[in-house]
Amino acid sequence: MVKENQQCISCGAGHYYRVLQDITLDTQHGRKVTIPAVEVFKCRACGDEVIPAASHNYIDRRIADEDEQLSPADVRKSFEALGDSLTEISQAIGIGSKTPGRWLSGSQHPTKALGLYLRVLAEYPEAYKWLKEQGWKAPEENILHLTFGPDGKAMINGHAFDQLEQPTAEGQPPWAKIGNFARQFCGTPYRPVRSAIS
Ligand SMILES: [Zn+2]
Repeated sequence: MVKENQQCISCGAGHYYRVLQDITLDTQHGRKVTIPAVEVFKCRACGDEVIPAASHNYIDRRIADEDEQLSPADVRKSFEALGDSLTEISQAIGIGSKTPGRWLSGSQHPTKALGLYLRVLAEYPEAYKWLKEQGWKAPEENILHLTFGPDGKAMINGHAFDQLEQPTAEGQPPWAKIGNFARQFCGTPYRPVRSAIS
C-alpha cells in the first residue's frame, strides 16, 4: 500500500505526495464521468501516479452512482428529445407534475428504473408517442368521475354534486367548484378536474 512520503516504486528516487485530482473515465454505458477530488499519490521526481485502494473504491462507487442516476443534464437531454412541455411529459409518463423540475434542478434523482425508462423513451420517439396515445394521466385515485344519477343529478366519484347549476363565484372557473367539492367530500386532490368535465 502506497503512503505519503513513501519512496517511489517506479523510479526509486522520488517520494510520493498526496494530491486531489479530477479523473475522467468512461462508464459501461459509454458515458464520460468526471469524478472529482480523487486522492492520488504522485512522485516528486518522475511524476509517477499511484491510485490507492481507497480511491479505487471511491471511483467504483461514484461510477455506480452515475450509471444508476441520470444527471440533471441527462434528464434535460431526455426531456428535449421528448419535445414536450414538462407538464405534458409528466402526464404522459405518469410522474408527479413537480418531479421533472426536481430532476432538472438535481434536488431529486430518478431511480434506476425510472432513469432507464426515460432513456428508452428519449431513444425511441415511437415508444413515447405510443405512451401518450394511451392517455394515462393521473393515478386512478386522483381522477374525478362525473356521472349522472337516474334523477339527472350530477355525481362526482359517487357523491351527489348539485352545485353545477349554481352560479360561479366571480372570477372562478366552473371547475373550481368541482375541485372544492372533491377536496371536501371525496378527499381527492384537485387536479385533473378539467378532464373530468370535458
Ligand atoms: Zn518516481
